[in-house]
Amino acid sequence: MSIPPASRNPPVWRPRRVQAGSWTITALSDGWLRLDGGSMWGVVPKALWNAWTPAEDDNTILLALRPFLAERGDVRVLVEPGVGDRWSPKLARIYGLVRKPTLRDSLHAAGIAPESITHVIGTHAHWDHVGAWVEEREGRLGPVFPRVKHYLPRIELAVARDADAVRRASYRAEDVEPIESAGILTTLEGSTEIVPGLRVHVLGGHSDGVAVVTWDEERDDGAIFWSDVVPTAHHVQPPYIMAYDLDVARSHAVRSEWLARAAERGWTGCFYHDVDNPFGRLRREGSRYAVELIEGQ
Ligand SMILES: [Zn+2]
Repeated sequence: MSIPPASRNPPVWRPRRVQAGSWTITALSDGWLRLDGGSMWGVVPKALWNAWTPAEDDNTILLALRPFLAERGDVRVLVEPGVGDRWSPKLARIYGLVRKPTLRDSLHAAGIAPESITHVIGTHAHWDHVGAWVEEREGRLGPVFPRVKHYLPRIELAVARDADAVRRASYRAEDVEPIESAGILTTLEGSTEIVPGLRVHVLGGHSDGVAVVTWDEERDDGAIFWSDVVPTAHHVQPPYIMAYDLDVARSHAVRSEWLARAAERGWTGCFYHDVDNPFGRLRREGSRYAVELIEGQ
């Protein structure tokens, strides 16, 4: 079974919700961007990937910027808030950034008051994932959620503050420093339970410390946020590794292990960059994985 090709233009957006274990997970939006299709697909030939994620004449493909909100009782956890507002017209043009709807718009559309958010998690500090942690107010940079605890893998903080030449294009110190200096940042290593039934697993591969988030992982109806470990529902075979990934061997190992675990458990997968499909469940089909899309409410 294969899933339909990705949309070339941003589809009409609406909030979509699924139930996963004891959690309600809502797919939000912080807009859309375009990246080079070859970079998003690594060694996969264009003859294959262009059928799944069609490229324009400049070889770019459309990608979503999709935060998720997980709710249970009074706990409201925002995972990967998005790209944020701090973009020059030049960079917005290079990356084809379209901020419709923004995180704030999509929270409003989903009926979620920003003040009710209790935790904010970043799986890694790439600008397209945590740019929305920080905003400019009266000429100064500060946290978008100033009274909320933020979480980030420890190594990602270090890299964002002092990126070397290989990493520099993917990080901005200004995305993390205001959170750290506000005293609201907790850094993570290994596997950490943030609240009961919500864990962050630091894995590495794509970046030094990229993490996945799981909800009720011991249950068969739990869920996983894939982050850039599995950026879209089209990237579910272990060798489909982005050219952006720093450590390809580690990515392959991490992806093999976690794709197998997700398929075995039947977890609902949450995809950050997939244009059309926020949610999908993996299933083994012979030596490959198939994705069963989940529409949600
Ligand atoms: Zn990334």
